Amino acid sequence: MSRLAADVAIIGGGLVGCWTALFLARRGQRVVIVEKGVVGAQSSGVNFGNLRLQGRFPGQYPLSLRSQELWEQLQELVGESCEFERSGHLYLAYDAAEAGKLAAYADVSESYGLAIERLGPAELRRRWPWLGREVAAATYSARDATANPRLVTPAVARAARALGVTIIENARVIESKAVGSGFLLGTDTGLAIECGQLVNAAGAWAVEIAERFGESAPLFPAGPPQFVTEPFPYLIEPSVQAVDGSVIFRQIPRGNVILAGYPRSAADPVANRAPVPPAKTLAAMRALARVAPVLAGCHVIRVWSGIEGYLPDMIPVIGASQTAPGLFHAFGFCGHGFQIGPGVGLCLTEMILDGATPTPLAPFSIGRFKDRVEVNAKFRSEFDAVEPAPKAAAPPTG
Ligand SMILES: Cc1cc2nc3c(=O)[nH]c(=O)nc-3n(C[C@H](O)[C@H](O)[C@H](O)COP(=O)(O)OP(=O)(O)OC[C@H]3O[C@@H](n4cnc5c(N)ncnc54)[C@H](O)[C@@H]3O)c2cc1C
Repeated sequence: MSRLAADVAIIGGGLVGCWTALFLARRGQRVVIVEKGVVGAQSSGVNFGNLRLQGRFPGQYPLSLRSQELWEQLQELVGESCEFERSGHLYLAYDAAEAGKLAAYADVSESYGLAIERLGPAELRRRWPWLGREVAAATYSARDATANPRLVTPAVARAARALGVTIIENARVIESKAVGSGFLLGTDTGLAIECGQLVNAAGAWAVEIAERFGESAPLFPAGPPQFVTEPFPYLIEPSVQAVDGSVIFRQIPRGNVILAGYPRSAADPVANRAPVPPAKTLAAMRALARVAPVLAGCHVIRVWSGIEGYLPDMIPVIGASQTAPGLFHAFGFCGHGFQIGPGVGLCLTEMILDGATPTPLAPFSIGRFKDRVEVNAKFRSEFDAVEPAPKAAAPPTG
């Protein structure tokens, strides 16, 4: 058996694991990432690419805004722009009730300093003449952005490697235990890794790691179906989302329109599959045509989804383990982890090296599942036949 030693080992080479490694390495830490497949191949590489600030969980704004600052420095941090663009985000309402919901989101965003424009039908038609007649109101945030997820995690991993981070791919961590003041990991390739501190950034697979340390969370896998159309003359600059959840889309400058259709479908983390039921393509195209009738005739040329970890309260777990000193969890990003990924990596680095982060993360503690599980009010409309675990997660003993 070969052996490796590190200050910090990270289980999972997704966006969160790679950003954490990069920030730790910038502060002189010896870091090892262990990835069961290849870097950025799961949720981090297949997502929609939205860096949305509007309409977030209020308690997540400090983290989200800190993360956006890092996205805005992507070129300096990793040496590549990864198609990062401040495309803006247009949130649409079809009726007065939905417009009220947008206004409430805007109040929250503005209270955290985000500039939001509130737009009625005449202004909408003037600025974006391709919008359908049914769109009644919208809010627009110019700071919201997009990036190409296929490019980002490999670029962050390259930057981390250049600072000395060891990245081991195609090795699954199958054993992890506390030993003395640190940890010992074992992989299915026969590698043993000793480390002082450990980060569980294992995405939809993270609970099996947490449970080895006697704590748990009601994580379940699902994914929003994604579609891409044939190219169409470039017309639509912002990322566009209907607040009824029916569709979100963006056009890339090459002309293709990328869209996601909701509700989300179940995914299978054991078989490593995230199927897209065929009916979803038709439903997504109908929802797209309602927002942008000009796109009604476009053909979808590819469909896909991904395996994302969700929690019933629709916010992630980020922070220190409550059972194993030196272990930190970051998982269950509920479809929002691309945007907050860099911020999570920076906050974990501060927690590991400084003992605390200035960014408030209390709502994301794994301890919130000890006694009861909150279920988000929108839950039933957000997933196809996915049941949240209704009971508190009972941690196994030992
Ligand atoms: C289709 C889709 C669209 C999305 N759209 C957006 C969006 O527009 N905006 C947004 O902000 N978010 C979006 N998300 C969510 C976002 O992609 C994720 O929240 C984010 O990528 C999570 O990153 P991660 O590093 O935690 O997880 P992952 O990318 O899943 O990485 C975890 C890694 O851990 C590895 N691993 C697991 N267990 C082990 C083990 N035992 N040993 C070794 N390695 C292990 C896995 O192989 C995986 O590579 C979307 C997600 C999906 C699926």
